[in-house]
Amino acid sequence: MTDTSADLVILGGGSGGYAAAFRAAELGLSVTLIEKDKLGGTCLHRGCIPTKALLHAAEVADETRDAEAVGVKAAFEGIDIAGVNKYKDGIVARLYKGLQGLAKAHKVNLVEGAGTFVGGTTVEVDGTRYTGKNVILATGSYSRTLPGLELGGRIIASEQALALDYVPKKVVVLGGGVIGVEFASVWASFGVDVTIVEALPRLVPNEDEFASKQLERAFRRRKIAFKTGVKFTGAKQDDNGVSVSLESGETIEADLLLVAVGRGPNSAGHGYEEAGVKIERGFVITDERLRTNLPNVYAVGDIVPGLQLAHRGFQQGIFVAEEIAGQNPRVIDESGIPRVTYSHPEVASVGLTESQAKDKYGSDVTTFTYDLGGNGKSQILKTSGGVKLVKAPDGPVVGVHMVGDRVGELIGEAQLIYSWEAFPEDVAPLIHAHPTQTEALGEAFLALAGKPLHVHS
Ligand SMILES: Cc1cc2nc3c(=O)[nH]c(=O)nc-3n(C[C@H](O)[C@H](O)[C@H](O)COP(=O)(O)OP(=O)(O)OC[C@H]3O[C@@H](n4cnc5c(N)ncnc54)[C@H](O)[C@@H]3O)c2cc1C
Repeated sequence: MTDTSADLVILGGGSGGYAAAFRAAELGLSVTLIEKDKLGGTCLHRGCIPTKALLHAAEVADETRDAEAVGVKAAFEGIDIAGVNKYKDGIVARLYKGLQGLAKAHKVNLVEGAGTFVGGTTVEVDGTRYTGKNVILATGSYSRTLPGLELGGRIIASEQALALDYVPKKVVVLGGGVIGVEFASVWASFGVDVTIVEALPRLVPNEDEFASKQLERAFRRRKIAFKTGVKFTGAKQDDNGVSVSLESGETIEADLLLVAVGRGPNSAGHGYEEAGVKIERGFVITDERLRTNLPNVYAVGDIVPGLQLAHRGFQQGIFVAEEIAGQNPRVIDESGIPRVTYSHPEVASVGLTESQAKDKYGSDVTTFTYDLGGNGKSQILKTSGGVKLVKAPDGPVVGVHMVGDRVGELIGEAQLIYSWEAFPEDVAPLIHAHPTQTEALGEAFLALAGKPLHVHS
């Protein structure tokens, strides 16, 4: 058995793993990155990027349908799914090529194959052992299903939904979280009859209630059906379709059932438990510096409990690389991680919801909601929604929640405000270009600082 050594060995080349690899290489460390499939992982190949390409195609379809409302003559003739997939796959392929080039430029030793963590700081791939001074576990996540609900045929997860070569007529989406809502949005724009089933009382249940209400109102207008607070009891499929049963006694017939009930940590079968890595409910447990219970073994990304987002993985990867290089980086604040749901309309937030803020600071938390009805650019774009600020008593703004088309692009400023612990009077004097949607954030801060401009009382 050969044994190869490096400063850092990383198991998994997704967002968390490759970010750690690139940053460590920049800091002069030798890096071995082990990936059994494709560099880039879920986000690039089966997640963020292809879904957002579909959402953009969906936006173009909606704009074409609605062109007459702005005086443009256009005829929507339908969706050419082969064309949509070509566009989507082209973007993924270009980014994949770029990423491979970056790995080369950073002189990362990319090992293709399935690795097993064998203890100490060693990972084995096809009989070769790779030993690092440090190891990072970054094996990501998989699409979960419910007990007794087997994926296959007409019962699909997001991976299969992304690879469809036809537009279904009717779909049931199980789960009203980010992934479920995004696919529902795409399909509705493609002309599909969609019903979302969510066991919790509202869509995007992890967001502030304001965001759920706004999104539900918009989905109602878009004729996207949703049933909240109702449990799924079973699904049967045959050649003609799938029949989905609910606890309410109702049955919904569809062509497909998309199971979007969350993602499980991919921590089994790679030797973790056998080597003594502390695991709870499948997740690899770390401290705030992302150290596992074993010396010189770190974990990043979706296998670590918390928000399962690519940019969290990137930041964790960078953090561990800098930690290993002795740079003592600042601990990542989980609630400062921006969250965006890219449906039509979008939902974007950072920091605490009103109810989380009340749990933390008591009932004197103040909020202000600015309606996009007063924002010129949003009117031009024909979008509705709002910006809600949550402020700690005598303290800074601790939560920003936004709903509306393109509000995802405003999250950068919201994140800066949150992370700098800004008071409304710190932000109120900052000038926002007119007419932009950023003005909606500015107006909300003006109002909270006691000097509203374009606000109807
Ligand atoms: C449909 C969908 C849409 C999403 N949209 C967004 C979005 O818009 N924005 C956002 O921030 N996040 C989004 N996400 C989440 C995002 O994709 C994940 O948070 C991110 O990919 C996690 O990165 P990771 O490095 O932890 O894991 P992954 O990206 O899953 O990478 C893990 C890698 O490890 C490899 N691996 C596993 N086991 C082994 C082994 N034994 N040996 C070698 N290699 C192994 C896998 O092949 C994989 O490449 C989305 C996810 C999905 C499914």
